[in-house]
Amino acid sequence: MLLVDRGLFIGTAADLNNPQALADAAVTHILSVDSVDPGPLLPANAAFCRKWVNVLDEAMSDLLSHMDDCFLFIQEAVEAGQAALVHCQAGRSRSGTIVTAYLMKRYQLGFTEAYHRLKSIKQDVQANSGFEEQLCLYEAMQCEVDTSSPLYKQYRLTKLTEKYPELQQVPRELFAVDPALSNSSEVSYRCRKCRRTLFRDSSILSHPVGEGASAFSHKKSSNLTGEVQCTSYFIEPVQWMEQSLLGVMDGQLLCPKCKSKLGSFSWCGDQCSCGRWVTPAFQLHRNRVDEIRQMNMQK
Ligand SMILES: [Zn+2]
Ligand SMILES: [Zn+2]
Repeated sequence: MLLVDRGLFIGTAADLNNPQALADAAVTHILSVDSVDPGPLLPANAAFCRKWVNVLDEAMSDLLSHMDDCFLFIQEAVEAGQAALVHCQAGRSRSGTIVTAYLMKRYQLGFTEAYHRLKSIKQDVQANSGFEEQLCLYEAMQCEVDTSSPLYKQYRLTKLTEKYPELQQVPRELFAVDPALSNSSEVSYRCRKCRRTLFRDSSILSHPVGEGASAFSHKKSSNLTGEVQCTSYFIEPVQWMEQSLLGVMDGQLLCPKCKSKLGSFSWCGDQCSCGRWVTPAFQLHRNRVDEIRQMNMQK
């Protein structure tokens, strides 16, 4: 077990078996990021404040959703002048990820800087590739897990895709409410042909523009200006899509009212016209929909 920062230790499951070391370090809080129940390992008749995040050390495991909670748990110990131990099995990947996230949030560091700081103390720390990506996302979200952020929505969809072959159905809460069934002052988009409202501005999952023509080297580009454009809106799934998404990997997206073709979806992902891959992809062609703004302001 190693001291990383004031009131924060990182360690392995074996450290739980060392009551003397825990007492010497004045550890009061134990955060287990492990798929094995840490309870039986802990010294009997010792009272700890405990938190258990049950995850496997696999790239597809979700730690991002737990980062804020874990931060608060550690912070509680630190602010009380006590100490927290964050451990997994080997003290390398899972605990390393959570400790890095803590350092990022506490000191407003980027992923790279926080990770290096931890590695300078514990050299064998090695977050798996999926956890590294999640730490980068955490940085992009300013170290705040915001479930309404497009970045988080896309992340959640990607996690679902990894499990998709075994999924019986898409979890209901993943679908945005059908904007045709509710009122909002938000900018929305409707079918160009029949004017049925299809999705809201907050459903758009924008992506960084890709390398455009060079990503399509097999095609000839007539775009001499080199300007790259996304010709589709990539959005989160909306309730009216539910029937078409069930049980298939990809297909067309038709207007729920006039049945004209609006775009397509693929759980495996698809390439945008700008060259960027988006996984999974729910895309509606820009030239099939119109943007509508509420005109309630006098000019
Ligand atoms: Zn694009
Ligand atoms: Zn329509």
